[in-house]
Amino acid sequence: ENTANKIAAGEVVERPAAVVKELVENSIDAGSKSIEVEIAEGGTSYIRVTDDGIGMSRQDAELSILRHATSKIKNAADLTAISTLGFRGEALPSIGAVSKFTLTTRQMGDDLAAQVALNGGIVEPIQEVGAGIGTSVVVEDLFFNTPARRKFLKSVTAESGHISDIIGKLALSNPNIAFKFINNKKIVLLTTGNGKLQDVIACMYGHKVAPDLIPVQYFQDEITIAGFVGKPALLKSGRQWQTFIVNKRVVNNRMLVKALDNGYFSLVPKNGNPLVVLDVMIPLNSIDVNVHPQKKEVKFSDEQQIYRIVYKAILEALANKLP
Ligand code: ADP
Ligand code: MG
Repeated sequence: ENTANKIAAGEVVERPAAVVKELVENSIDAGSKSIEVEIAEGGTSYIRVTDDGIGMSRQDAELSILRHATSKIKNAADLTAISTLGFRGEALPSIGAVSKFTLTTRQMGDDLAAQVALNGGIVEPIQEVGAGIGTSVVVEDLFFNTPARRKFLKSVTAESGHISDIIGKLALSNPNIAFKFINNKKIVLLTTGNGKLQDVIACMYGHKVAPDLIPVQYFQDEITIAGFVGKPALLKSGRQWQTFIVNKRVVNNRMLVKALDNGYFSLVPKNGNPLVVLDVMIPLNSIDVNVHPQKKEVKFSDEQQIYRIVYKAILEALANKLP
């Protein structure tokens, strides 16, 4: 059991940013309105994710750290229409297998919070403590018992950068959630949760980008494309200002990048990469999200169709906004 968790951890938890992603996604799934992430030393010594979501009962808290305990799907049929970010029930046991892990949670109606802990995969006795409604997870000394993986970690700056990147993208996917990110005691990202995507973009990339954002809004064949694309003034040499979201999930997808590039650079000289935040909303049964251990990729049942729609969405957005 513990070995299986350690093996799963190798796939799910490749670096501190993957831990942050799994924990924040759980907070989002729990209906949180506000999510706080704090890290120290690039997440290697300390990660805390605190939310104001629905929390768990004592019994559910005990279950949550067991392998394949998910409250999110009940049977195989549910796998074809996944609306939550999590569904495999392996994140918490995997993280707890390779760290000192503590989860404190309280649901409405309970007087006390339940606190469950794993130390290198060993379950510690459950405790009852005082805490607000919601869930807080602390992960310390990541990979302390897997020296080989620990050696693969990059510098503190690089690991912090990965964490900052994923929190930014999760904030862009959820403008209605207030995110606070604290790195080494300093607040580095603070969004309001007011629901306005352009405000999250301005928070992340600076308020000076606001006048150069072009709204994207396109609907065809039950597929909605929404978001913002930057004017050529905001072209960047890298792709760090590009976020693709499919049904609220941050994804990597070559086809989406290609549709953006081909649409954008059919009207603008190619001289860098545009800022983009594109949200693709598609019926649940037209995508498969169960194709990657960290759920970073999705498979569309009709790639060509999505390509054409995204391409047209970009063209239409730019067409009347360029000089
Ligand atoms: P999954 O997200 O795939 O279901 P996880 O291992 O990430 O699996 O979490 C296990 C279960 O623990 C979830 O299904 C959920 O019921 C519960 N859980 C985890 N994190 C939270 C949270 N922040 N708030 C409420 N419930 C949570
Ligand atoms: Mg999860």
